[in-house]
Amino acid sequence: MDIRATPERANIRGALSAKNKLLQPLFVVWPLLTVVAVTATNWAALASLLPFAAIAVLISGWPLYVAAFQASFRKVRWLDELSPDRRIGDYSRTDLLTLVQGVHQRLGVATETPTAITPDKDLNASAMILGLAGFFPKLNAIYVHRPMLHVLAPGELASVVGHELGHYHRYKVDFCRATPLHLMLLGVVAVLAVSHLGPSVFGFGAAAGFAWIHNAFLGAMAAPHHRPIEYLCDEAGAEAAGVVPAINCELKMGLQAEAELQLQHDLLKAGKDIPVARLLALYQEAIPFARVDADEMKRRVDAALKQEKAARRGLSLRGFFDHLREGEGDGEVREQLGDLLPKGALLEWDREALKRNGHLDADQISALVSAMERDPNGLLFRLPTEVLDPRYFTHPPHSRRVLYLWRNRAAIAATSADRPDLARFGPPAPQPR
Ligand SMILES: [Zn+2]
Repeated sequence: MDIRATPERANIRGALSAKNKLLQPLFVVWPLLTVVAVTATNWAALASLLPFAAIAVLISGWPLYVAAFQASFRKVRWLDELSPDRRIGDYSRTDLLTLVQGVHQRLGVATETPTAITPDKDLNASAMILGLAGFFPKLNAIYVHRPMLHVLAPGELASVVGHELGHYHRYKVDFCRATPLHLMLLGVVAVLAVSHLGPSVFGFGAAAGFAWIHNAFLGAMAAPHHRPIEYLCDEAGAEAAGVVPAINCELKMGLQAEAELQLQHDLLKAGKDIPVARLLALYQEAIPFARVDADEMKRRVDAALKQEKAARRGLSLRGFFDHLREGEGDGEVREQLGDLLPKGALLEWDREALKRNGHLDADQISALVSAMERDPNGLLFRLPTEVLDPRYFTHPPHSRRVLYLWRNRAAIAATSADRPDLARFGPPAPQPR
């Protein structure tokens, strides 16, 4: 396995559009199957079975209903509902609205996508398209975790928004995203099953079994495109913000992930007699939204651990019970986390320049890429994703995402050359803290 290999841009685009073309007829087949199931339903028997039919319907679409339920109650702040004087990190409400609108324009997306900031503490963002927009607007939106607004410069943030808009509007297996169609068929088949087989193991089993096969089919259709889509969405981010800010964003996320994994690893080692779940909760509380340097984060986490240990000495009974409760897997988790940290040599690149200046310029990135290509085994980051078989992960490793963007920089620049300028996204990086 060549860990420096990146996919061919034309191939992954071609494969995705071929899959979409292949699945196109299913947009007709699924409604037809739904009609067939309705016709075959024993409506007379159903009258007395309505509550059971409802349960079967819930079972058939369980994962989606759960996701929809959770998303509806997720605590988020919608960008357009922020108060006018609200600032988060280096951004005012106006900055954020302008930036998000600018990215829409750059990518040629006409409809404004609902955008929210979540109180999650990890550096991440996501796009959710459950396709029930009319009923549950929160289910169709892009979500940016709050620390992103503290860590990323405007161009980098624009690349993240562009990436998520890529997921939302451009790069997807369309049929797999047709949620209403799927829920309709699953629900009707569930009712059909209960109407003939009754509220029995067979009735519910048939509903669940059909849903399982249905979802496995969708999963199999979408799976080969997961990682390629990440590359394409990275492209969308770079198309919106430029290749250099998009790569800087990738590097910052990698540095942060590396520092946090190391910190968690040290914490689990230092807190041997405290359950893993409690330690990770402690960690989440201790790290701030506004990321500070790794040493400061370590100080905060150490202080939290010290406090926890002191509290446990005072309440020895609680410590005792926690110990009893400690999951069988805890010891394993501690060991595994240690094994997960790759031990190879780090690549030579100017990490300090990134920390000091807040970004690398094109020459520094070019030097970094050369270093990666010269030394295929050198680690860009001490992260498991950099060395383990990529098939285990839905997202490609940071190093390959950087390489993909850099290798395709000319093509990416050409796609958006005629679109409005990016000056609106402001200076390349905020002052380092
Ligand atoms: Zn993505």
